[in-house]
Amino acid sequence: MSKNTRVPGYMQSKAARNTRGIIGDREIRFKCSLQNTILDVLRGRPGWQEVPGPNIQQQNSQQNNKPAAGDGDWDFYWCDREWLHQNYDTMFLHEHQKILHFRNHYELTRKNLMVKNLKRLKKQTEREQGKSEGLSFDFHPTTYELPSEYHIFVEEFKRNPGITWIMKPAAKSQGKGIFLFRRLKDITDWKKGEYQPLTDTTREVPETYVVQRYIENPYLIGGRKFDIRIYVLVVSYNPLKVWLYRDGFARFSNTRFSLDSIEDAYVHLTNVSVQKNAPDYDPEKGCKWSTMRLRQYLTAKHGSEAVKKVFKGIDNIITKGLQSVQKIIINDKHCFEMYGYDILLDSDLKPWLIEINASPSLTASGKEDYELKFGLLNDLLNVLDLENRLTGKEKRIGGWDLLWDDGPVLADDGNMECTTNGTSVTTANSFLGCHNDRKRQLREIYTSAQAIKKT
Ligand code: ADP
Repeated sequence: MSKNTRVPGYMQSKAARNTRGIIGDREIRFKCSLQNTILDVLRGRPGWQEVPGPNIQQQNSQQNNKPAAGDGDWDFYWCDREWLHQNYDTMFLHEHQKILHFRNHYELTRKNLMVKNLKRLKKQTEREQGKSEGLSFDFHPTTYELPSEYHIFVEEFKRNPGITWIMKPAAKSQGKGIFLFRRLKDITDWKKGEYQPLTDTTREVPETYVVQRYIENPYLIGGRKFDIRIYVLVVSYNPLKVWLYRDGFARFSNTRFSLDSIEDAYVHLTNVSVQKNAPDYDPEKGCKWSTMRLRQYLTAKHGSEAVKKVFKGIDNIITKGLQSVQKIIINDKHCFEMYGYDILLDSDLKPWLIEINASPSLTASGKEDYELKFGLLNDLLNVLDLENRLTGKEKRIGGWDLLWDDGPVLADDGNMECTTNGTSVTTANSFLGCHNDRKRQLREIYTSAQAIKKT
């Protein structure tokens, strides 16, 4: 089909679309800003065709005086956040186009704004539903924004002598600029250096930081700390529609945990980007466990009821986080977002939200990691279903389970659970860390969707 006569799947009549077979008989044009697993997935997808990336196109357009990327010669764009910021406000998106990121995703992914939005929704919930409902928001460590909340922080600091705090730049990632401290002097020394600009008008405004209560009692396995990376896909904010991926991983620190050496990043920061620089880091072994392995480990140690509670707590964190920005994010039917949530468990098995990423790393650290990310991204494209092969009513697509669809989604009857008092309760459609037989499941739903579409 020539470029000019091509009609994307979405723009065709429903009848025409439904007569189409499985993937491979339609051409979907994609752009991709990244050079990692996502590019492999897009290039490997039958019937998808690459159009030049933004850099190439921008260079060409600068040379030829032609309009830059975003003018519509693509159906799907995995762009980077910077590109979206620069282009979103001036670009026109055609009916059929899908693009990564919502315009103001930073409301959730900047550390200070995430906490601000969560605190606001908590207050509103307490006002409308009572104090006890507000307790369901107590999943992020006490946090203050600096410099704006410095004085409130100092009061809190003095009320809790001896505890450990962590300082983090609000908009950086990969552990950059983070340090732990216990004495106010450490932060006043830092403040002198950082905040000189407040008195020196010739220097730039200081960077915003968050200061956060450090979780001193992390859950340890083999004496080492870890956090859990969880993938969450939002396809709409209004109504809120959220998918949760079954697989994820726990990222371990390379060095045994201790509160004696608070200056040692290899002990306290579990980011792979930090750990891979540790002197004894073994790239073959890496520092990851699959979420399934973690779930099995915890179940063997604490029993399935305790573990269900942990994972229910994680579901609560996922949905509350998104609800806190639901009214703020500029909803656009062309946009979707794949978040990487970072969750830390403490020694009482309480899950804590550390941060939410809008650009979780898609670069694989090994073979297993590559397989996870390849399946994750392929199934993300299956959920978006640009090929229009599904019915739109599926609750599970490959490794993604529909967690929230303008309200909680319940698992099918087969997953009903019996309580001890004889009443039955349905469980949430959430299977984080459960078996991910994605290929078999995909075969089933595609066969059944085809049969439904034929009738
Ligand atoms: P970045 O965006 O730079 O990765 P994070 O907030 O994710 O910043 O923090 C980096 C790492 O530091 C986390 O993966 C976690 O291991 C550790 N960490 C961050 N905040 C806390 C905290 N409040 N308590 C304990 N550990 C923390």
